[in-house]
Amino acid sequence: MITSESQTVDQQVSTGHLPGEAEVASLTTTAYERYRQLDDGRVADYIPALAKADPALFGLSVSEVNGATHDAGDSDYSFSIQSVSKAFVYALVCEAYGHAVVKERVGVDNTGLPFNSVMALELNGGHPMNPMVNAGAIATTAMMPGATPAEQWELIRTGLSTFAGRQLTMDGEVYASEMKTNSRNKGIARLLESYGRLDHDPLDMVDIYTRQCAMLVTSHDLSVMGATLADGGMNPVTGEQVVSAEVCRDTLSVLAASGMYERSGEWLFEIGIPAKSGVAGGIVAIAPGKGSIGAFSPRLNSAGNSVRGQRAIAYLSRALGLNLFASDSKRQTGKVA
Ligand code: GLU
Repeated sequence: MITSESQTVDQQVSTGHLPGEAEVASLTTTAYERYRQLDDGRVADYIPALAKADPALFGLSVSEVNGATHDAGDSDYSFSIQSVSKAFVYALVCEAYGHAVVKERVGVDNTGLPFNSVMALELNGGHPMNPMVNAGAIATTAMMPGATPAEQWELIRTGLSTFAGRQLTMDGEVYASEMKTNSRNKGIARLLESYGRLDHDPLDMVDIYTRQCAMLVTSHDLSVMGATLADGGMNPVTGEQVVSAEVCRDTLSVLAASGMYERSGEWLFEIGIPAKSGVAGGIVAIAPGKGSIGAFSPRLNSAGNSVRGQRAIAYLSRALGLNLFASDSKRQTGKVA
């Protein structure tokens, strides 16, 4: 096991800069135009209310850590955040409990199996493995402080709103539709309980988890929420410190390993920044110290990631120089004209 040696040494940051604001704005529009006609992929329908989504919708937003946000397309269209909420609820729980407890209770390793796998839980002795699969997300939601499920839910609702910098509301139709059809999540919660890994009533926790997934956001909101994680936990628009810089670091490392379902490795290889997607078509991608991209388009690939969102973010990662693994010796030695 890798120890938390890094926790005992002062941490320095390793970041660069975005190009000027006008260029970021223009590249955001270019990315939108490049992929707006792409019609590969299918709208999710395993939650009946999601099947009604208009597949033509496409919103793209980039928020910088200075608070400037650049929007293109349907960037003010509201959709349910779904699994993207897992990233932010995880950050809130890390803020409450700290690095070691959350690492031990929820885990940080990819399962290599689908997000709603029961087998992953069985194979790992009931340990959820990471907070981005449903088992880990339900376990994380259950760790949220609060004396009652209603208090826990209220802290999640206000916490997500603080990340967005405005009061978010829930889509009652999506919530009700998912609660009618989510037997699998209820089964996962019962299984967690059977392994002694849930301190609360399993169905109450699935209820809160389903509510958090039904919160309505826009691509603009996602980019501000992501920029908060890129900005050491301070919302760059409101100036509010939502979580600590250590929590941002821990959350982004988990997203890098597991944020994009079973394609997390491929995503990191091609795009090179932590991200989280959801089945309604939202994606948030975060470039630490620089900013964040929020994308929304309902057509998904076979792993559940928005096709247009993924392509637009790949383009912006290259054009804005976001890939965390890219370096250039010529730039350092001044050999580039
Ligand atoms: N609420 C959805 C579920 O639990 C979220 C899935 C997702 O966005 O990956 O199935």
